[in-house]
Amino acid sequence: MAKQVVHPKIRGFICTNAHPVGCAKNVETQANYVRQAVPSRQTGLNALIIGASTGYGLASRVALATSYGANTIGVFFEKPPVGKKTGTAGYYNSFAFHKHADRQGVKALSINGDAFSDKIKFETIDSIKKELGQVDLIVYSLASPRRIHPRTGEDYRSVLKPIGKPYSDKTIDLVKEEVVNISVKTATKKEISDTIAVMGGEDLTFWVDYLLEHDCLKPGAQVVAYSYIGPEITHQIYTSGTIGRAKDNLQQHVDNIDKKLSQEIGGNAFVSVNKAVITQASAAIPVIPLYISILYKIMDSKGINENPIAQITRLFTEHLFSDHGPELDDQRRIRLDDRELSIEVTDQVKQVWSQITTENLHHLADYNRYKTGFRNLFGFDVENVKYDQEVETNLFLP
Ligand code: NAD
Repeated sequence: MAKQVVHPKIRGFICTNAHPVGCAKNVETQANYVRQAVPSRQTGLNALIIGASTGYGLASRVALATSYGANTIGVFFEKPPVGKKTGTAGYYNSFAFHKHADRQGVKALSINGDAFSDKIKFETIDSIKKELGQVDLIVYSLASPRRIHPRTGEDYRSVLKPIGKPYSDKTIDLVKEEVVNISVKTATKKEISDTIAVMGGEDLTFWVDYLLEHDCLKPGAQVVAYSYIGPEITHQIYTSGTIGRAKDNLQQHVDNIDKKLSQEIGGNAFVSVNKAVITQASAAIPVIPLYISILYKIMDSKGINENPIAQITRLFTEHLFSDHGPELDDQRRIRLDDRELSIEVTDQVKQVWSQITTENLHHLADYNRYKTGFRNLFGFDVENVKYDQEVETNLFLP
């Protein structure tokens, strides 16, 4: 037992602790959203979510268990609490998710460890065989700065850098809360290939190959992997940069997986291009927190903003589980970023972007909303949580 009052320990885009009650409330809020958006049905689906503890992966897991009656197996890399040190937000989210799944009467299995390793892949396969038999859906939602290659042992680090020419633009200094200029040097060839090794599609191919080999995929099983494109103002650092190359590589792998699945089990694989949202991964990308602060203000004012659970609800209702199946663009991608990239939104963002400074930050952008959204990720500033009260932080996954 370790009852204590938990206050946030935040510096810049890093928060080193989490509030278990706030995290549980976040999971509950997501479940309530999807419950009222999608009439609950018992599909009997079994789903594997890789990167299931925060952001888009957690939203996918909550939506599947809540409105589709799905049994889920979630893979993630999170720290449990140790003594007075709290667990990570993803750990507490997953703890809360297990309670939620119990109430829903669906199975929840969690594997905490490095998804890139063979060890965790085989543990997952054993668990699927023992508890679920086979899975109908794989959601691939990993965001990682590092991958140790399971076959060569090479330690790859991803970087967020432009390609071809250096990049200089506005960003928020999250510590000083000022709009400042950043300059990022162009990536070397090695940095490009290393980023592809971490965030590209090889790992997903390894997952699917092992799952096929071990007969863990049901006939007609589907795979969906998440990606991002964004507007022109972020292209140099994102889509045309190192991470964009990795996402192109992910798309190539997904296209090959689609062919393999369709031949072997009549299944499919898709990339879903999602909108920019506040997550731990997006907070670490230069420029993106400032961009999101502007984007949210504009999309909120038009009543078209979406958070991860709203996006995932749309992914399932309008695409993956709709009567007509996924609607794809000319590159075979599902586009949930249609509202973010509508001309009226991108034009307005561009205009604000050219004017934004530290002085008008709170007027032209909703930086407070960004900050609250960021704190919410760790269970802080969540409504109806009594932060002055002691809470049990030594909670452990089954
Ligand atoms: P996130 O940081 O919230 O979640 C990352 C997940 O990956 C967590 O569950 C974490 O535990 C897990 N993880 C990281 N390294 C791992 C490892 N080695 N082994 C096992 N699990 C590991 O990230 P997110 O923003 O939700 O991103 C998920 C996906 O969505 C990414 O592919 C990202 O590019 C994509 N996406 C994000 C945004 C955005 O704005 N955040 C927009 C569009 C697409």
